[in-house]
Amino acid sequence: MTSSVLRPTPASPPGTVSTHLPCALCGSRAATVVGTRGREGNALRSVACTGCGLVWSDPRPHDARQFYEEDYRRAYKATVEPRPKHVLRAGRVALDRLSRIADLLRPGLQVLDVGSGGGEFSYLLASRGHRVTGVEPNIGYAEYARRAYGLDILRGFIGEVALRPASRDLVTIWHVLEHTEDPPAVLRRLREVLVPGGLLVVEVPHIEATCQSPRSTFHDAHLVHFNVQTLGAMAAHCGLRTVRHALSADGGNLTMVFTPDGAPQAGVAAPLPGNHARVAGVLAAHRPLRHLLRPQTLGRTLRRLAGALEERRALAAHGGRTGRALLDRLYAPQPDDAPAGLAPAWRFAALGMAALAFGWWLECELVDDAAALGLSTAQGTAAYLAAQLGVLGALAALARRIGASRGRMGGLAVLLAAMPVLH
Ligand SMILES: [Zn+2]
Repeated sequence: MTSSVLRPTPASPPGTVSTHLPCALCGSRAATVVGTRGREGNALRSVACTGCGLVWSDPRPHDARQFYEEDYRRAYKATVEPRPKHVLRAGRVALDRLSRIADLLRPGLQVLDVGSGGGEFSYLLASRGHRVTGVEPNIGYAEYARRAYGLDILRGFIGEVALRPASRDLVTIWHVLEHTEDPPAVLRRLREVLVPGGLLVVEVPHIEATCQSPRSTFHDAHLVHFNVQTLGAMAAHCGLRTVRHALSADGGNLTMVFTPDGAPQAGVAAPLPGNHARVAGVLAAHRPLRHLLRPQTLGRTLRRLAGALEERRALAAHGGRTGRALLDRLYAPQPDDAPAGLAPAWRFAALGMAALAFGWWLECELVDDAAALGLSTAQGTAAYLAAQLGVLGALAALARRIGASRGRMGGLAVLLAAMPVLH
């Protein structure tokens, strides 16, 4: 058995500096500088721990308390209450988040949603029958979530609000941990609130992400940055076992699920060999020109543009609804998503059979028996095609309702038009 003091320490990488703050994971003060500017172009030094690869803003750019209670929403959204645009966007994000943890949910869970913001995710969970408590330090947003959705919101920071130990089945903390000054303290607190076997869902921006411009990697609001290794190790040190982890499709977000397992450990965690080289390597290779030339960058820009246009259209359609009415509509099961009765393919098949039967009858009457109506065959065929044009117009109008594709409708139209010939 080797003692930890005998473990060889890797030579310090070039450019190692001594940091103002110790590493929140392994306690080291040795780090390399991985960023000097924030996304607004402001001076912001970001460092990566040579011991474990954790990245943080060093020194801290602001006083967290004041920043989150008042300034944050103003600085980011230029408002203290969510506007319909923000509610719609946050509501869609909430639906996406719910879909990603849907397999973890049982009916009637006791949930704690940390950093509940305007209350959109908490309200979604409440609308699905769970008992939810939100925690939100921002005064304007906490009040709004209480007033607009009738939610139970504890106003304050997670370390300060009153919560019974072992009282929650599920704790969610979406894009909050990276804003906190002491993430291990937050994780220990959340572990304490969970029942045995309970689940903690943590989502943070992924420090290895390359989907964004390298100039946008760091900004004042994010005090600490994780990858799977550092977040997993920090949680493990706090008595939490990783159940699973996932990256978003663009690699920008890291979602990890934990469960209490063993007691939180005192002191700092062990270093993570190789993780500094990994993180610093990814950040160094993420260059502006290379980023600009990646096909994914163009794709992301186009998706964002399409998303912005679609959002404008959706907001216009929502026309002056309150945030709550907007979410009620967004969260209600959509008739198109869950059709009562027949699936779209069967609805199309039923409609197609009816149209063909009608076409057959029409064709017999107007073309085959044209003489009985005092018409020539050419006149009968012309009358048949004119009648079918009307039928096709009706079918085209119905196509969207029954969920049929243009291709299928086109096929049906050709069959109907060709019926006199086929016959
Ligand atoms: Zn470290």
